[in-house]
Amino acid sequence: MKPFAYVKAANEHQALAALTRERGKVLPLAGGMDLVSLLKDHIAEPDRVVSVKGLDATITAADGGLRIGAATRLVDLHQHAVVSAQYKALAEAAAEVGTPQIRNLGTVGGNLLQRPRCWYYRNEEFACLKKGGARCFSVDGENQFHAILGGGPCHIVHPSSLAVPLIAFNAALRIVGPRGEKQVPVEEFFELPDRNLYGETMLRPDELVTHVILPPARAARSATYEVRFKQSHDWPIAFASVALQMQGSTVAEARVVLGAVAPIPWRSPAAEAVLKGQTMSDALAVKAAEAALADASPMSHNAYKVQVARTAVKRALLQAAAATA
Ligand SMILES: Cc1cc2nc3c(=O)[nH]c(=O)nc-3n(C[C@H](O)[C@H](O)[C@H](O)COP(=O)(O)OP(=O)(O)OC[C@H]3O[C@@H](n4cnc5c(N)ncnc54)[C@H](O)[C@@H]3O)c2cc1C
Ligand code: SF4
Repeated sequence: MKPFAYVKAANEHQALAALTRERGKVLPLAGGMDLVSLLKDHIAEPDRVVSVKGLDATITAADGGLRIGAATRLVDLHQHAVVSAQYKALAEAAAEVGTPQIRNLGTVGGNLLQRPRCWYYRNEEFACLKKGGARCFSVDGENQFHAILGGGPCHIVHPSSLAVPLIAFNAALRIVGPRGEKQVPVEEFFELPDRNLYGETMLRPDELVTHVILPPARAARSATYEVRFKQSHDWPIAFASVALQMQGSTVAEARVVLGAVAPIPWRSPAAEAVLKGQTMSDALAVKAAEAALADASPMSHNAYKVQVARTAVKRALLQAAAATA
């Protein structure tokens, strides 16, 4: 690990003051579940690390919805009474992240900003495209967990389990920086590799995510359905989060978002259009799942993920429709 200076920021103001515009030179440290391994593996080599554990770590009611501090631990998120009752898909996703140890240290902000898990990216021996090299090793290599939608020139899958249900609930992020503060829909926060090869989000190096803003749940019925290898603590192979506004058994509105299939959380307007105004049934859920994966373009070793993702969408829909509002 390269030596670095350490700044313990007591609050948002101090944390911001310790950041810089130069990419990679100064990095925020929250629970450290991701950053410490990046430092140990020489994937990140900052001159300074700024502890952001002093950011807001509370979940409070705001404008009929919730305001979740970036330093909130994952365990506190999934055990929160209002999150569990009104934003089920989010509570379910948070409860499945890693292990109890990871959920006790990992924070909401760190979860959203964690870096990709591509094994070539994580191995310092491989200077791949994303690290400034000349090629993507996954194209002719071990790509069984890589993208089946939206990939190229880099084929990572987005790693955050929370981002997917947050988009299903149309959440936004509060971002602060030297130019002041702004709110950005989570859906617009993540960027595809053809637009941003070296990063994954629109966050600048001198900015911080301080809060997640959840709009009122409007009695949405929601669910997250993940498919993993056995019940391991590893990231899901594919998953889906859905939020439905139901009128009886009819779907008035739907938001369908897939995880672990594309470099960003993948919303499916095609699946949502199939569902709108229809009576929920097994057959409708299958049709929506097919629409969600219609544009899938698997790599040499990951065609199996297409059916896994379809199943996740179908089961999330049926689970959400059956849930109590
Ligand atoms: C075995 C294992 C299994 C896992 N399984 C899953 C899983 O199934 N689903 C899942 O989602 N995750 C999974 N994870 C990842 C884990 O959830 C994340 O690593 C963790 O949530 C990161 O949170 P943290 O607070 O520790 O972040 P840190 O490691 O401290 O930071 C992560 C990144 O975010 C940046 N950062 C942190 N806070 C802010 C902020 N407020 N503003 C701007 N940048 C910030 C840091 O600079 C760093 O780049 C797993 C991890 C392990 C080790
Ligand atoms: S998928 Fe992206 S991170 Fe992985 S080897 Fe290719 S360029 Fe690198």
